[in-house]
Amino acid sequence: MSATSRLKELRDKIDPINMQILDLLNQRAEIALEIGKVQQESGTRIYDPQREAEMLTALQLANEGPFSNETISNLFREVFRATLHLEEEDARETILVQRKQPDQHTIIEFSNGLRLGNETFEIIAGPCAVESYEQMDAVGAVLAERGVKMIRGMGYKPRTSPYDFQGMGEEGLKIARQVANKYGLVVISEVLDMSLIPMMDEYVDAFWVGARNMQNSFLLRALGKQSKPVLLKRGFGATLKEFIYAAEYVMASGNEQVILMERGIRTFSEWTRNTLDISAVPLLKQETHLPIIVDISHSAGRRDIANPLGRVARVSGADGLMVEVHPNPDVAMSDAKQQLNLEQFNQLMDDVESIATRYKHETV
Ligand code: PEP
Ligand code: MN
Repeated sequence: MSATSRLKELRDKIDPINMQILDLLNQRAEIALEIGKVQQESGTRIYDPQREAEMLTALQLANEGPFSNETISNLFREVFRATLHLEEEDARETILVQRKQPDQHTIIEFSNGLRLGNETFEIIAGPCAVESYEQMDAVGAVLAERGVKMIRGMGYKPRTSPYDFQGMGEEGLKIARQVANKYGLVVISEVLDMSLIPMMDEYVDAFWVGARNMQNSFLLRALGKQSKPVLLKRGFGATLKEFIYAAEYVMASGNEQVILMERGIRTFSEWTRNTLDISAVPLLKQETHLPIIVDISHSAGRRDIANPLGRVARVSGADGLMVEVHPNPDVAMSDAKQQLNLEQFNQLMDDVESIATRYKHETV
């Protein structure tokens, strides 16, 4: 037999083996997807390194060559990786925060008529922390005048140093509630620990989870048991995937009213406190059905670029922006450099409103 026909004969043997391997790989993938579903239902993890190690050992013991054990391990590791990817893709489609249809939008309604999500652009504003009744009253009056419906009523502050002002606690919440009632606003406040939930529930209309607590799964689960909306800030080192899975914790525990807030991520930039990741807005809009708000204060850490950031937020497709406002920022007990005074806040509102008319119904 000539070399050419021998080659053809051998190649003809290879082709059906390829098809068999293909068929077996896909059969294996189907079973892996089934396993993934069972794991998801029982709340266990998709990736199990122990199981992977056991399979590799069994394969190496059974391997009679000519492939070396190392080659066999590498080949199967590739199969495992591809399977894990497939399982993750499959699981992703079934998570609650994931947008299932293009027109699926969560809209969160509050007692004063505020609606967050996909219809309007709303402003959340207020001082970094409640410092006194007079301070909150001055801000509340301006917010009401400008049609803002939600005020920050922060009683507890997550500060870098334990020696810095930590917030007025329940006293601060009482003030926030009083001022909100006076001006027809709703109050949102950061909950630093799950033990504070029952007390805070007396005063607030929505719970706020700060960047530092984004992955506190116990807190997220506890908020998932509440009936009030939860605003979740992105951690400064969190990927978008980690962010949406944090929201999933709240939703999977039973609370579907989740609002996402992009607040900037940590980069090498020295001129801003964080870097506003504006691409997070269209990406989160694409991936989830939840409202998305842009924090223009903590993302920059400086008030001089609040207006351009506000304009960017307005046309980004976000559902609103959050800004810190204080009657006298220079003497603020926290975040003095980034809070706007009342006049600057009015200017920001004018700017955001005027860009909205210029870019009516358009998003960038
Ligand atoms: C805040 O908005 O009050 C705050 C503390 O911001 P962050 O959690 O994003 O740092
Ligand atoms: Mn602040």
